[in-house]
Amino acid sequence: MVNELALSEVAGGVFELRLPIPFEDHLVNVFLFADGDDVDLLDCGMNSDESVQAIHAAVSQVGAKRIRRLVVTHIHPDHYGAAGVLAGDGGADLYLHRLEIPLVNPRYVELEHLVKEVHKYLLVNGVPAGEAEVLSNSQRALSEVVKPADAAAQLDGAETLDMGRRQLRVEWTPGHSPGHICLYDASEKLLFAGDHMLPELSPNIGLHPQSTPDPLHEYLDGLKRLAAYEPNKILPAHGRPFSDAAGRVSTLAAHHRRRLDQILEIVSGGEMSAWEVALELWGPRENLYEKRLALQEGLAHLQALAVEGRLEKLVRPDAVRWRPPAQRA
Ligand SMILES: [Zn+2]
Repeated sequence: MVNELALSEVAGGVFELRLPIPFEDHLVNVFLFADGDDVDLLDCGMNSDESVQAIHAAVSQVGAKRIRRLVVTHIHPDHYGAAGVLAGDGGADLYLHRLEIPLVNPRYVELEHLVKEVHKYLLVNGVPAGEAEVLSNSQRALSEVVKPADAAAQLDGAETLDMGRRQLRVEWTPGHSPGHICLYDASEKLLFAGDHMLPELSPNIGLHPQSTPDPLHEYLDGLKRLAAYEPNKILPAHGRPFSDAAGRVSTLAAHHRRRLDQILEIVSGGEMSAWEVALELWGPRENLYEKRLALQEGLAHLQALAVEGRLEKLVRPDAVRWRPPAQRA
């Protein structure tokens, strides 16, 4: 078992462990920071036997006896799922950003309120009733691979954390999730990027009931801020480590600029719902998860365009619609 572990030392005393997940590229990377009998962990994979066993095996392989701290980049299932197994009573201390903490309960414990809220959000954004029912319920499946734990320490961003024998700075990078954080090791210019900066995928940036109000602008600002550090090595949560932060950031920014222009073009013909925009942009999708992501991503772009004054956003209790700005004399 142990020799099959996808464990490798990516910097002195820092180990990357690749854990199985049923989506994205089928692997999530978590990081172990060794310090004698203790090890600190960044992200923890999903709550499955295979994944948790791999973590325990990796802890002993790096020569540690216990997990001291568990820092989680954001509360999505592939990063936070096993938190309740590893942290809490007698286990590790869990560190979470303050904006992630209030998302946990509605998302994974008392789902009914959020399922209703998502249902209403889907309807006002133009999703037909039958589909809205099915899509709002798809929330439930994710809660099965998550065992929540309470945060022992709350982060705001800009803290210095001891991880293994290193000191890392917490970088708050909202967009993909409201309280997403990266960790930065200034001494070796290492950036532990979570889902914020990925080598191949463009992380989903969505406007939805649990997001911040203008996630796309926040996301792009965060990318620029981190690229300005000129990191030597970026260690992402999905995909392989890479080094060209500036190049990756300009590719991601160009991708979003193109998408903003496409959406502006789609809405130029008149008033539309976000669902109509998403259908035109991506075409009909079979996969439920993809449908929701497409709507959320379309909405994040529509909202950015409204914030910039390039579109008008109209809101009523039963419908949110978007149209080109009124012609001014
Ligand atoms: Zn994520």
